[in-house]
Amino acid sequence: MLFDDANIRRSAKHFKLDPDSCFIRFDENVAEFYLIPDRFEAWKEGHQRSISTNFVFKGNYKYNDPDNQYRLTFECQCAGKKQVRKESPKGGKSGKTRSRKQGIKMDCPSRLAALFQPITMADGTRTPGCIVEYRYQHNHSLGDITDLGTRQKSDAIKATIERLLNQGSTIQRVMQQLTMDYDKFTQITRGNGQQLSRDDFVTYDDVYNIWHRITTNTMRKDPDPVLSAMKWMEKFESDKGFTFYEEGDKPSDVYFGFASLWQLQQLKTHGRTICFDGTHDVFG
Ligand SMILES: [Zn+2]
Repeated sequence: MLFDDANIRRSAKHFKLDPDSCFIRFDENVAEFYLIPDRFEAWKEGHQRSISTNFVFKGNYKYNDPDNQYRLTFECQCAGKKQVRKESPKGGKSGKTRSRKQGIKMDCPSRLAALFQPITMADGTRTPGCIVEYRYQHNHSLGDITDLGTRQKSDAIKATIERLLNQGSTIQRVMQQLTMDYDKFTQITRGNGQQLSRDDFVTYDDVYNIWHRITTNTMRKDPDPVLSAMKWMEKFESDKGFTFYEEGDKPSDVYFGFASLWQLQQLKTHGRTICFDGTHDVFG
């Protein structure tokens, strides 16, 4: 998996190294190799996918030197103390025993450190580089279908889900787009070398959790719905949108109306037909 990695091989070529000897060190614990700095993220994402685990960011150490060197460190998501549960947890209103998913921590020793520093080439010139030191021995099976449920999705798939939701896709639509197609599934089950990743199994809960976070953080500007609406009005006003506010006879009767600048532009473009929809008991 490391030997035939396209990012490692391409980087070796970039630094004018023989692609067949692109490892600075390779022993039973550590693989050390060069990467073009821009390729580090792509390599990490690709490698995580191929071994179906994730690396969790631990720190960014900045060296105090003229080259602005820095070192990013990560550990396997399965690092950390394995939790042993002596008894089944009880909880909820009924106090009944709940079933809990098995934890993913199992003291995995795998670590990743990327040192960003200039590399001195054979001709003496210096070029930006990245040296990765990867403790590649994991103590859990990689790409095993039996523990898919306890694995985490990658940051990349979370970002994709968030982008689709922000574009207005429904939860169902996001799932349709991101769920693995039948072809890929049969290829994997025939064992053609592809590894299963947790990212291949996007569930309703996965998308719902992200949707919920977006809604509570972004859409609800205040825990109080009236104050939240007020804050939206202020935002639309400052963005040159349209706003409307009126109070009725009772204190509970407040009416908010707003349209964003984008909506107003849509209205200008397609404004010959207007479709009006209302909830029950609302008069228009
Ligand atoms: Zn691991």
